[in-house]
Amino acid sequence: MHLVPIKGLARGGEAKRLMEELAVHFKMLIRARQLRINTLKEIYPDNKNVMGMYKPASERIGAYIFIRLRSSVNKKQFLDRDTLRETMLHEMCHAYNLDHGDSYRRNLSRMRFELEVYCNCSGDGEKSKKDEADKKDDEKDKKKDKKKDDKDKKDDKKDDKKDKKKDDKKGKREDKKGKRDDKKYMKNKKKDDKTDKK
Ligand SMILES: [Zn+2]
Repeated sequence: MHLVPIKGLARGGEAKRLMEELAVHFKMLIRARQLRINTLKEIYPDNKNVMGMYKPASERIGAYIFIRLRSSVNKKQFLDRDTLRETMLHEMCHAYNLDHGDSYRRNLSRMRFELEVYCNCSGDGEKSKKDEADKKDDEKDKKKDKKKDDKDKKDDKKDDKKDKKKDDKKGKREDKKGKRDDKKYMKNKKKDDKTDKK
């Protein structure tokens, strides 16, 4: 997949990095679904509701995905990753349906689920980095434990349980935030669809 940021815009390097991150995030899904995506290209449309576009693949050349990376009010400010990933998924789903009908929406939620599964297994740079850090922490803890007696070990286990509960709660909060962002996105999309019809 070719990654093409807008030439001559400030912070082009960061734009490229964000696109690389997106490519990694979606790699497994693209492969599993055998999607032919030739290029991911940055756009900055005047219409602030336009988040992305999809140009279907021809026989010879794979599809183009156009994506807005930057805020409509400030070119130097990038959109958050959840929004970018949602745009990417939205446009990718147009490989199957160009409209936003029932079939499109069903497929979108299926793809979202598949993506979640892949990102929990591997393929997500951010996540694997976090896992590595967690592993290192675990190893440190183990070394400490060896020096301590059994009673301390029991205490550690209790603490682990507490931490796990905390992590679970945090995960849930993040899920909720994701859903809110989805709603926001769909709202904008609906607005967009209305303006299209006019
Ligand atoms: Zn669309």
